[in-house]
Amino acid sequence: MSNVALVTGASRGIGREIAESLASRGYRLILVARNLERLREAAQSLTKRHGVDVSLVAVDLRAFDDVATAISKEIAAMGRLDVLVNSAGVFHFGTSGMAINEMDDLLMVNVKAMHNICRVCLDALKQSNCAHIFNISSIAGVEGFAPIGGYAASKFAVVGYGQSLAQELISEGVKVTTLCPDIVDTDMSVGSGLLSNQMIAPSDIGKAVEFVLSLSDCAIVDQMTIKCRTVIERNGLR
Ligand code: NAP
Repeated sequence: MSNVALVTGASRGIGREIAESLASRGYRLILVARNLERLREAAQSLTKRHGVDVSLVAVDLRAFDDVATAISKEIAAMGRLDVLVNSAGVFHFGTSGMAINEMDDLLMVNVKAMHNICRVCLDALKQSNCAHIFNISSIAGVEGFAPIGGYAASKFAVVGYGQSLAQELISEGVKVTTLCPDIVDTDMSVGSGLLSNQMIAPSDIGKAVEFVLSLSDCAIVDQMTIKCRTVIERNGLR
């Protein structure tokens, strides 16, 4: 029975590309996001190109109980879970001026929903002999930036959660990697002012996941920062 990966935020952007990378390695997939139409398109393409089974969960990750029920059902149907990728996320500009409802949204989706998914998936992951959790933080999870303090707060939380989770789960055979990319060419970075070819390609993040999974059992990548050449050329290397 081939390995299974669950990817949130798989309807587009980084999650969609990570799903592509995992399918190319033969993983069966559980894809999670709200937009069922986009999930169906992704599933059709992945099955056609890589011949893997794909199941879909169209749900708002803020509905924690619904998410738990739907995801548990799909994991049971697949019979196992080996890799969890928490890529779903939202972005809002603002620091001290950020409205409370926007801060709530950032913390609900980027932090609490990720925690909820980890909780739901852990029992199944602990049964795997190659269990791995990937949480997508951001460069804004390791450095603050004046215009995006609310987003940075949520992504710093993802880094702290990942470091703690990695320590907690190592003895249970579950590895945890937190990815911290700079600007990636997706819907989320439309307001970045960069052209498509000036940003990190979403497929680069898929390749990063493939690289980490290709390492021997003794090797652990706890955190990976992926910088953007255009940003470094403009602002210098921090
Ligand atoms: P994106 O293109 O905007 O995609 C966001 C994904 O999250 C979509 O699949 C969306 O699906 C899903 N999502 C959002 N809210 C959801 C909710 N309430 N319930 C269920 N699914 C939800 O963004 P991206 O660039 O791929 O971002 C992926 C991750 O990388 C995020 O955590 C982001 O913070 C992080 N990141 C992005 C960049 C960047 O420059 N793009 C850089 C560093 C880190 P639906 O709309 O179908 O629900």
